[in-house]
Amino acid sequence: MIVAEQKALDEIRQLVGDAKQVLVVGCGTCVTVCFAGGAKEAGVLGSLLRMAAQMDGQPAAVTEVTVQRQCEWEYLDAIRGPVEKADVVLSIGCGIGVQALAERYPDAVVVPGLNTKFMGMPAEHGEWVERCAACGNCLLGLTGGICPIARCSKQLLNGPCGGSSQGKCEVGCGDSAPDCAWQLIYQKLAAQDRLHLIMEITPAKDWRSSRDGGPRKVVRADLKLPQPDIKE
Ligand code: SF4
Ligand code: SF4
Repeated sequence: MIVAEQKALDEIRQLVGDAKQVLVVGCGTCVTVCFAGGAKEAGVLGSLLRMAAQMDGQPAAVTEVTVQRQCEWEYLDAIRGPVEKADVVLSIGCGIGVQALAERYPDAVVVPGLNTKFMGMPAEHGEWVERCAACGNCLLGLTGGICPIARCSKQLLNGPCGGSSQGKCEVGCGDSAPDCAWQLIYQKLAAQDRLHLIMEITPAKDWRSSRDGGPRKVVRADLKLPQPDIKE
């Protein structure tokens, strides 16, 4: 899932500015699960903005709507009316949702209410952890299912840096230090009697499959719909 956190109210108010009609758009998927931008959060944020505007003596009409997935146009098409009426659309979807709204409604002023953090999962109630950095060429088959890119602070591919202490990464301190990913990889492979994998040399990674290659896309020719044959 994509993990995000809500921006501070002061920053959100600055982004909304003096708009008279504000539409808060929540998303019913990842950001609902991480309690940042679902229907409940949209309702609370809408109330806060209304109260703040009232206290400033500049009342604004703030309404809320939550779509199932803000990153798919078919769900965004269902809110065309409210989007077109709004002076500002405040998206509390992830950065993809914000951009999908801005792309689908090019005339709308769309601003983000969240900071999108990472791809991860809940480790326990109220705590989310990063698990994948979308490198585009997955190595988990060699590393016991533990990602050295998202979970090793130095993104090392051939074993630990030597700085870990008591299983904790040297980047970070005290209780907040993350686990050393390579310690976890070693323990996992040892427990599975597959330590030979750790001796294999992983060549320098071609980072073009990651963000370094610029914006990426996946094309599945077998799923594409035929384009209409337009004749002049
Ligand atoms: S190796 Fe790459 S694709 Fe696989 S989990 Fe790590 S970052 Fe994600
Ligand atoms: S201590 Fe472990 S997790 Fe931290 S940078 Fe070194 S190898 Fe990576």
